[in-house]
Amino acid sequence: MRSFYLALSALVLIGCDKSPSTSTNLDAGPDPAAERPAASENWLRDILSYDLAIDLAAKTGTVTISVAGESSTGLSLDVGNLVIETVADDFGALEHIDLGAQLNIGVPAGGESRTLTITYAFTSHDNFDGWMEEQGVTFLWPAFCGNLYPCNPDPADGATFTMSVTGAQGTAVYPESIPGQAPTYMPAIAVGDFTEMALGTTPAGTAVSVWYEPGQEAAAVAGTTNLVDVFEFLETTYGPYTFGSKVGTVSADWGGGDFGGMEHHPLWHISSGSLSDEETNAHEAAHGWYGNGVRIACWEDFVLSEGIVTYMAARALEESGVDLWPQYDCELKSICNSGENTTALLDTCGEIDLINHELWSSTPYQKGAQYLREVAAVLGVEVVDQALAEFYEANVGKAARMRDLVALLKSKGRSEEIEALTVAWLETEACPASAAALCP
Ligand SMILES: [Zn+2]
Repeated sequence: MRSFYLALSALVLIGCDKSPSTSTNLDAGPDPAAERPAASENWLRDILSYDLAIDLAAKTGTVTISVAGESSTGLSLDVGNLVIETVADDFGALEHIDLGAQLNIGVPAGGESRTLTITYAFTSHDNFDGWMEEQGVTFLWPAFCGNLYPCNPDPADGATFTMSVTGAQGTAVYPESIPGQAPTYMPAIAVGDFTEMALGTTPAGTAVSVWYEPGQEAAAVAGTTNLVDVFEFLETTYGPYTFGSKVGTVSADWGGGDFGGMEHHPLWHISSGSLSDEETNAHEAAHGWYGNGVRIACWEDFVLSEGIVTYMAARALEESGVDLWPQYDCELKSICNSGENTTALLDTCGEIDLINHELWSSTPYQKGAQYLREVAAVLGVEVVDQALAEFYEANVGKAARMRDLVALLKSKGRSEEIEALTVAWLETEACPASAAALCP
């Protein structure tokens, strides 16, 4: 599902509502693609790719979107607080209705795919919900892509990306291409006084770097000591990486006291406060396989992203002699003894607003990791690795459900014990009795 088109020049189309010459078309009659259907709502239209051109100085953008050809002529996009200027395709302006945060467009029916170009203006944000000009960083997770570019924020709707950024006050670090299907919070930009340190290349040919700002060299070195080996372990254990051949950690200034990271592949962001932390670096790298490579079908499946990669980070660093389990055990115990504890896996799909729901906590991370650890104690660590690799191979570039991974684990044997662990760790709010012995 790669993009087959070149970016259209939107400027040519502005104010042009007549069809281009069809003199080269030997067929008589109008091209159906030249029809201008009425704008209508359709959130299910499959978006194949986005080509983003962002001017940070002017705060303007041009996005060329390729959508699957369908009998439907509707396309709905989240446009947050963008100001939409033009909506057009090769044949001229397209009918569209700007409802505020929602843009409905009329796209000619049929064809293998249709491309359209939208020009717009965006604004600076300060609450981890768009382009944060003061910090020089974008933050779009979980559903704020519409504050940077017209998009479908549904985590199930993956697309490929190409990007160009101009007007940066400093060095802009961003991927020019995201060749594997990715969720719409994945494209990211960081602007700063960056130094790139090449860390090495894996046997699969993936070059790993870290980008850091003045004064951060020691932290960058500490946090990425084993990052090439971690990446090699992930590639060889779980399957080929799909987001390009150059990857790495980018230091992101999220403000004072920041911690954690964000899985923007292939150039993931790590907050300046966690840059020195190997666990955070490994965790964000592992999202290339789960959360991004395999997308979650809905936010209720958050554990399929966070629980799995928390486990994978421990597996990968274990190979380098770093034991994350004592830290995880204490984090879990703290969850169990606090009001933060929740059920890690919900039955619904597409019904929760994650950042305003109790599931948005450390619980899916830690319960999910401990679940796989106990499944591995029953089935064997290699069997669990093999199951994660099989599930990745079957679902990379697609959206998947945690319950399908559970079913695969149960198919590996001793299914009643696996089911009991599933109930205890994922489907019950109270922590399992075995948690009490952790973190003495
Ligand atoms: Zn994560």
